[in-house]
Amino acid sequence: MGAQLIDGKGIAAEIRQEVKEEVAKLREQNIVPGLTVVLVGDDPASQTYVRSKQRACGEVGIRSDVKKLPGDTSQSQLIELIEELNQDPEVHGILVQLPLPKHIDADAVLRKIDPTKDVDGFHPTNVGCLWTGLSHQGFVPCTPAGIMELLRRTGINPQGLNAVVVGRSNIVGKPIAALLLEANATVTICHSRTQNLEEHCRRADILVVAVGQPRFIQGDWIKPGAVVIDVGINRVDGALCGDVDESAREAAGYLTPVPGGVGPMTIAELLKNTVMAAKRAL
Ligand code: NDP
Repeated sequence: MGAQLIDGKGIAAEIRQEVKEEVAKLREQNIVPGLTVVLVGDDPASQTYVRSKQRACGEVGIRSDVKKLPGDTSQSQLIELIEELNQDPEVHGILVQLPLPKHIDADAVLRKIDPTKDVDGFHPTNVGCLWTGLSHQGFVPCTPAGIMELLRRTGINPQGLNAVVVGRSNIVGKPIAALLLEANATVTICHSRTQNLEEHCRRADILVVAVGQPRFIQGDWIKPGAVVIDVGINRVDGALCGDVDESAREAAGYLTPVPGGVGPMTIAELLKNTVMAAKRAL
């Protein structure tokens, strides 16, 4: 029996519909949730991501705005813009599209975003909320929040399960580990210096993979029946593939496909965070 595929596309569509209904209610009270995306430079992948975020906002009635800055913008000019946006009551969410050009210290910039408008959840205040079990008081980064929503809506409760996260980035690995811990899983975080990675993976009831290497995790590393969440988005010979090899489909109980698994959830969660920011601003 092959793994049951978790339909991220379908679940994300459900969430967008829920957000749309919530936005309609806010608009009846003359509140229009607003997201401003700051894009520095002309990286084509970033431009595509920003366009899809704008389109998604438009579809649910969130006002979106993109501030495009040239690639040679200085760090202080960028911070000046963020400080203006922090003061603007019509801007509920601020998102600085990453990566930033090399001459800009991304951490220094992200720290300048008002934490109450930090819909990406990267500000240290929000990271602190997440690691102190107060994720509901701050903003959770969108991809890990989306993964938890996929688990919830598929009826998978992490409590008491062995969760293994491969990857320790601030964007995916660490926050998903914090959320799984908050959900009472027993969490192991693996990275490039981990010894016996395969053994760790074989113990996982829930395996979250965010490594950025195509088809890295092999089917015989998977515990039979495990829930496998493949966060990877890699382009190989023009086609998208994840960080988990096709052979995982045999062993896993549940698996997120690439594309159509975790990917669509990220923008859906961004929309949710923006609406939450608008409501909290009331
Ligand atoms: P990073 O490159 O920031 O992090 C990769 C992590 O994988 C690092 O912690 C690294 O370890 C670890 N790693 C690398 N090689 C190995 C190895 N051989 N064994 C074990 N661990 C290893 O990536 P991100 O977290 O930003 O992204 C990961 C993937 O997820 C990418 O494919 C990205 O495109 C995708 N992604 C998808 C999103 C979505 O919406 N679906 C959103 C964000 C990312 P170390 O720390 O030791 O270097």
